[in-house]
Amino acid sequence: MVCVTLLIHQKIIVNKKITLSGWGGYPVVTGEELPFYTSAALREKLTSGSGDIIARGNGRSYGDSALSSMVVHMRRFNRMLAFDETTGLLTCEAGVLLSEILEVFLPRGWFLKITPGTKLITVGGAIASDVHGKNHHVEGCFSSCVKSFDLLLADGRVVTCSASENRDLFLATCGGMGLTGIILQARFYLKRVRSCFIEQTTIKTKNLRETFGAFERHADSPYSVAWIDCLSTGDSMGRSVLMTGRFADDGDLSYRSSNGVSVPFHLPGFVLNKMSVKAFNGIYYRKAKNGQSNNRVSVDGFFYPLDAIGNWNRIYGRNGFTQYQFILPEAVSYEGLTQILQEIAGAGAGSFLAVLKLYGRENDNYLSFPLEGYGLALDFKIEKKLFGLLDRLDEIVVDYGGRIFLTKDARMSRETFERGYPRLKMFREVRKKYDLDSRFNSHQSRRLQI
Ligand SMILES: Cc1cc2nc3c(=O)[nH]c(=O)nc-3n(C[C@H](O)[C@H](O)[C@H](O)COP(=O)(O)OP(=O)(O)OC[C@H]3O[C@@H](n4cnc5c(N)ncnc54)[C@H](O)[C@@H]3O)c2cc1C
Repeated sequence: MVCVTLLIHQKIIVNKKITLSGWGGYPVVTGEELPFYTSAALREKLTSGSGDIIARGNGRSYGDSALSSMVVHMRRFNRMLAFDETTGLLTCEAGVLLSEILEVFLPRGWFLKITPGTKLITVGGAIASDVHGKNHHVEGCFSSCVKSFDLLLADGRVVTCSASENRDLFLATCGGMGLTGIILQARFYLKRVRSCFIEQTTIKTKNLRETFGAFERHADSPYSVAWIDCLSTGDSMGRSVLMTGRFADDGDLSYRSSNGVSVPFHLPGFVLNKMSVKAFNGIYYRKAKNGQSNNRVSVDGFFYPLDAIGNWNRIYGRNGFTQYQFILPEAVSYEGLTQILQEIAGAGAGSFLAVLKLYGRENDNYLSFPLEGYGLALDFKIEKKLFGLLDRLDEIVVDYGGRIFLTKDARMSRETFERGYPRLKMFREVRKKYDLDSRFNSHQSRRLQI
């Protein structure tokens, strides 16, 4: 169904009923997509209409956080507005992609202070999920480099938010999954680098205890992340390949964004099963050199290996997949992870993308995910038996004082969510205070009754 609804600034705005999903392809819903060209047009729509509405960046969140009956497509707000060469302060609209920032600024010696494992996300999405990267233990979440942003509220007002100005909105919006309004533009710091290459160290470990030991030994490394074989059991349970890195200092800034191959269609669901995942894990683990090795890798190779394969989400088949990402407080991380890995191996529900990270201090934002401890992210193909397993894992996570990452979630229960996020009350109060809860809602916020 297509209907022409508004004629603003010589641009025809078309509302389309389309099917929408996140990166995981689960769930799939029907909604209306609102493409705006100006913030004035967006404000007019917001104040004259009613019903649920949510901003959508580049759709790289996995579940239902960017899905609603009305979705504001932010990619059209993609202008870079100002840059201060002395401080690295960039001002840009919220629909700019991190990849676009890298293309302009990395050859000039500037890099993102915080970047997640894909550069194909918008600045608005980075703030709304308060994303973290391989350097969380050193530099924290994306909000730590944000000076301020302009937020469009439900009544049409645009307010500037920072750690000191409209602080309650700042704390609620960073990590607030679009539920506090629409970020129009942001000011945040880039950092100086002298190379577009990373000096990488790879450490192969034999079990979870060794993996924890390696993380601790390399805690002063600026970047670290481990791939973990989640199907290995017994003495080798938790065997991993830990990668640490730091920027090279060779002055080589010849950055060229890499475009790799693409998965042309959804693979049949049966391609991914326990046997194929086990085989992949075995090969990947054996491929890494024993002990410790060093090499030099590109920024894209180190930070964004999955971006090299376009539409890689299609390998999970038409039913899609979900990423289960949780974090546990450090003191109970070893015990909790052991229990969770046993549960997963016992259920035979392997994931070949299984990423373990050591996180640093928790920030003050009401719904940001990280807390000091270890977090694991696992991709699982959607199938009936999966949901029971994930419910059991939820119990373990919250019993140990942990939480699940909203930006990856498509299925947790309200109770799991409420137990994991103790500052939810403050978040709800901000939504009430500015009358945001009557307008900004996603399928996720309805499901979790946020
Ligand atoms: C391969 C891959 C690797 C990833 N690695 C990491 C990682 O290492 N660390 C990490 O933290 N995350 C990671 N992510 C998740 C990703 O960084 C987040 O989901 C991010 O928010 C996606 O941004 P987006 O622009 O695609 O936003 P969307 O997915 O479209 O939206 C995400 C949320 O942001 C809100 N939002 C978007 N734009 C605005 C706006 N302008 N104003 C208000 N709210 C807005 C939406 O309402 C929604 O709630 C990864 C995702 C992928 C696919």
